[in-house]
Amino acid sequence: MRILSSEVVKKVDREVELYGWVDGRRDHGKLIFIDLRDREGIVQLVFTPHQSKHGAGQAPQETSDIYKLADALRPEWVIRVRGKVIKRPAGMENPDLKTGECEIAVASLEVLNEAETPPFPLDDDGYEINEELRLKYRYLDLRRPRLQKNIKLRSEFIRLIREFLFKKDFIEIETPILTKATPEGARDFIVPSRLQPGKFFALPQSPQQYKQLLMIAGFERYFQIAKAIRDEDLRADRGFEHSQIDLEMSFVKREDVMTLDEEMITSVVESLGYKIKEKPFPVVTYREAMDKFGADKFDLRSESDKKEGLLAYAWVVDFPFFEKDKYGINNGNWTFTHNPFSQPKEEHIDWLIKGEKVEEILTSQYDLVCNGLEVGGGSIRSNKPEILKAVFKVMSYKDEVIEREFGHMLDAFKFGAPPHGGIAHGVERNMMVLSGESYLREVQAFPQTGSGRTSVMDAPAQVDKKQLDELGIEIKKKK
Ligand code: ASP
Repeated sequence: MRILSSEVVKKVDREVELYGWVDGRRDHGKLIFIDLRDREGIVQLVFTPHQSKHGAGQAPQETSDIYKLADALRPEWVIRVRGKVIKRPAGMENPDLKTGECEIAVASLEVLNEAETPPFPLDDDGYEINEELRLKYRYLDLRRPRLQKNIKLRSEFIRLIREFLFKKDFIEIETPILTKATPEGARDFIVPSRLQPGKFFALPQSPQQYKQLLMIAGFERYFQIAKAIRDEDLRADRGFEHSQIDLEMSFVKREDVMTLDEEMITSVVESLGYKIKEKPFPVVTYREAMDKFGADKFDLRSESDKKEGLLAYAWVVDFPFFEKDKYGINNGNWTFTHNPFSQPKEEHIDWLIKGEKVEEILTSQYDLVCNGLEVGGGSIRSNKPEILKAVFKVMSYKDEVIEREFGHMLDAFKFGAPPHGGIAHGVERNMMVLSGESYLREVQAFPQTGSGRTSVMDAPAQVDKKQLDELGIEIKKKK
């Protein structure tokens, strides 16, 4: 039966079977040392020209055949070995390996698959390798220990989040990917409809509207690990796709969501072994943050906090609801700073309804920052049609546009929408903070390149004329 490299130390003097990849090879005189790598780590295999036969249960291979086969092994070949776990001779232990006090005296070796020489080394951190090349061969790149660790940490993080939320009575609900535009301040990716040529779905920039509809549907506590898809300029911490821990609660005030969320983040990161600089998280207003740090995300760590790997969380509240559109998304009119579905602070609802003092209206938005990155954000939502409508009015949307784009929400709000609010955490940003990585691509299995192409698979790509015809789409010649 197969065991993993991590179990080897408990099996000294026993016969074991291991599967994995050839990580490297060293020769010492006549001895061949092969590092075998599996999902748990590395263990050293030894091949001697005069090895005794250990192949328990099977007809042992001839020692000289095994040695010859071992001599042919190359990096990244996939192998199966059987042999005895032996203590390494005194002084030959390798303190860098978890299995460093042992090695396997191989009695049988099978090559399950050969491998071409990888296009780049896999045993270093990989930072220096050209990004396009790394992502073209992402499945190899992911073999490096650093990325294995990051991706496993991500899985652990999500597992703990799920466990926490289930304990708190949340239910996990999936929402559609083919949908209608949900504005989050980015451009939409759109998908043409074959059955209704000339019409398009939009991919969700977030599950925002659906999660609110779920509150109206009476679920009260929803969460989802959701994909958020946004056509925006790519940056170190931004890709077309990211994942969100998305949650929403009914019958809550701002402080209720912030408290639950803080408990979630605290318990999860502490279970992962991290230390938080300050608890409860400091709460800073947007004004204070701008005055003090010149930005609404900031790093509260000192140099020594950084060395100790502390996490410095802080909440930012009292953002302006609106700003003048800088990105040409709303023709230079007023646009929302965070989320059009947010409710203004109680005392400013009146201004919003009247369209007065627009620049002074503050939103119920709360952002969570950590070590200089925005790692979460949410708000209390408007649950009355006139408040949501007033937001779009301030943004100079015509009545028919509001009706066409958001009529379904205005309708839903007429049927007993409970007060509700929620938050979403960017999984990748959180993972960047936890892993200390500076780029989103280091914490996502298959990220896009900086020029917006997919890993491994060559997309975006052209499609057949037939497919376009079915969709009623014609590509304009580039001038
Ligand atoms: N939908 C928001 C976002 O994606 C999060 C929220 O307000 O819950 O940023």
